[in-house]
Amino acid sequence: MKHFAIIGNPVGQSLSPTLHNWVFHRLGLDAEYTQIQLTGGGLTSIVNKLRYGELNGFNVTHPFKQEIVPFLDEVNAQAQRINAVNCVARERGRIVGHNTDWYGFAKTVHLNGIELGGTQVVLLGAGGAAHSVLFALLRKGAKTVFIVNRTLEKARSLVALMANIDGNTVLRVARPGELEDVLSPGTIIINCTPVGMWPNIVETPFPAHLVRRGMILMDLVYNPLQTQFLRLGKRAGATTVGGLDMLIHQGLRSLDLWFNNTLSQDVNPAELKAFLEEKLAEVLAK
Ligand code: NAP
Repeated sequence: MKHFAIIGNPVGQSLSPTLHNWVFHRLGLDAEYTQIQLTGGGLTSIVNKLRYGELNGFNVTHPFKQEIVPFLDEVNAQAQRINAVNCVARERGRIVGHNTDWYGFAKTVHLNGIELGGTQVVLLGAGGAAHSVLFALLRKGAKTVFIVNRTLEKARSLVALMANIDGNTVLRVARPGELEDVLSPGTIIINCTPVGMWPNIVETPFPAHLVRRGMILMDLVYNPLQTQFLRLGKRAGATTVGGLDMLIHQGLRSLDLWFNNTLSQDVNPAELKAFLEEKLAEVLAK
C-alpha cells in the first residue's frame, strides 16, 4: 500500500484527506492519505519517511510551506519563485519540493472562464496563498495588482520577491483603508486571507458598500462554500468564484507528481467536487 499525508499545525480542518482518499477509492488504488500534525522539530523525520519509503509523498500546509525548504534536496523553479512548497515528492531518489497551489488557482481561473490578461486585480492578504496566486496573475498577464494587507511590510516583501518576474504587470501595495481609491468597475478581488472561514462565517475581508456589479470576487476559502464575501458579491450582481476548484486542482496536480503520470486525467473533477460539497455541507450542519 502507498502512504501519503498532509503535514501542518493545525491540520485537523484539512479537506485533503477526504479528497485524496476519494480518488484512491474511485480509481481502485491501494493507497491511503492521512493527516499529520507536526511541530517544527518533526520536519527531518517526515522527510526521512519519504526518503526511506515509509511515505510516498506529502502535502504541506500552514505553517510549514517555507520552513520545509531547507530540509529538501531540491525545490523546483516555480516553488522557488513563489518561495513556498505545498507538495513534496521523491524523484530519482531525491526529495523535491513543488508548489501546486498556483497551478490550482490558474486552473480555477480557466475553468470559470475568467480572462486575467490586462485586468486590474486586488489581492487581499500577503501570506503563502497570496504568493501562489500572485505568481499565477503575473504569468497570466494581469495589468495591475494591488496587494492589500493589514501588515503593509508583508505586502512590500511580496512585491519585492515577485517584482523581477518577466512581464509587464504593475505591482502596488495598499492598506485596507485605501481600498476605495484603488477600485474600478471591472476589478477582480481575490481573498487570500482566512477571513470568513468557519467558524467565523459572518466576517468578510471586503466591505459590502464597495462591491459593484461587474466586479469578479474570488475567495480561496472553501469552508463554507458560500462565504459572506461571495454572498455580498452575488447580491450586488458580481461574478463569484469559491475556493473549492483551487483545492481540487492543486490536489490532482499533487497526485500527478507522486504517481509520475497523468493519473488526474482518470478523475472526473465534477464528481469529486459534488462529493466534497456534500462533505462540507455535512460539516456545516453539525
Ligand atoms: P497565511 O500565510 O497565514 O496568510 C494569511 C494572510 O491573511 C496574511 O496576509 C494575514 O495578514 C491575513 N489575515 C489573517 N487574518 C486576518 C484578519 N483577521 N484580517 C485581515 N487579514 C488577515 O495563510 P495562507 O496560507 O496564505 O492561507 C490564507 C487562506 O487561504 C486560508 O483560509 C487558507 O485555507 C486558504 N487557502 C486555500 C487554498 C485552496 O486551495 N482553496 C489554498 C491555500 C490557502 P498579516 O500579514 O497582517 O498577518
